[in-house]
Amino acid sequence: MTGRFAPSPSGRMHLGNVFTALISWLSAKKSGGRWILRVEDLDPQRSRMEYARQIEDDLLWLGLDWDEGGIGGKGSNGPYLQSERGNVYEEALRRLTETGLTYPCYCTRADIMATQAPHETDGRVVYAGTCRPRNLGETERRAVDAMSSARSGMADETRRERATRLFVPDEEIRFNDRLYGAQSVNLARHCGDFVLRRADGAWAYQLAVVVDDALMGVKEVVRGSDLLLSSAQQIYLYRLLGLEPPEFAHVPLLCNSSVQRLSKRDRSMSMEELRKDYTPSHLIGYMAYVAGILPEPFPISAEGLLPLFSWSALRDASSINLD
Ligand code: GLU
Repeated sequence: MTGRFAPSPSGRMHLGNVFTALISWLSAKKSGGRWILRVEDLDPQRSRMEYARQIEDDLLWLGLDWDEGGIGGKGSNGPYLQSERGNVYEEALRRLTETGLTYPCYCTRADIMATQAPHETDGRVVYAGTCRPRNLGETERRAVDAMSSARSGMADETRRERATRLFVPDEEIRFNDRLYGAQSVNLARHCGDFVLRRADGAWAYQLAVVVDDALMGVKEVVRGSDLLLSSAQQIYLYRLLGLEPPEFAHVPLLCNSSVQRLSKRDRSMSMEELRKDYTPSHLIGYMAYVAGILPEPFPISAEGLLPLFSWSALRDASSINLD
């Protein structure tokens, strides 16, 4: 099953990313599938090529080699740097616009914060729909098209910068996560109409990740559990674009105490520190132990772990307290 690792090159890898990369690599390889390395450098302010190179170096040091992608762009589904895929996102946005479910948004961050009802959320920003044209919904597509172009035409005269948002329905999106089980997310309550393209022109992660995973033939998405609920936004996009969603497997985030157990000292989780203190096989062995794949932490290579890996071994790990 084709899998992928999709790091944002905004810093050095830390133990959490390494854990995700390892599980994703093991799962893809074990099933005889390809493992793709995609560089998620959508945010021009935070992304640096130097970090992307460092991530590649850290993966190779760990023995996690990719079959496709990376900076060198190995494979036929590239480019593998999101910063070079603008035309692909443009086409997807065009198709979404045709559904009549997108609209321009002129809200500033301050506008959005001012309409928040903090007691209803856990700190997430839920867009209140300030710029949503009235009557936006699947049955009013035509009316909306006319309305939104009139609206954007008018507003363009005074405010040039605008984001593009996507209408979300007030309904439950259901999916199954391999580790976290059945999920049900109401997008209207979870995030509200979400951004596809920012006012500064940057593409939103949600759009890019869906388009890329689909076009690159990814069948299994393994990533940190902080992104579990955003899968619902992605499933909604898959649906609108007529694409088949992959399987999702979110893995627990390794936090400070996991590292302290590893280092017995209060050390950084960064690979810069970890590489000074450990060999790749010590690190892999420790992570495999935390994941429940090994009964105790002993040195082992990623390759050596393959025969021992199974999702059912890992499933137990989701109940380990990693905080
Ligand atoms: N680029 C994201 C990150 O580095 C991961 C996105 C994903 O795997 O879908 O956290």
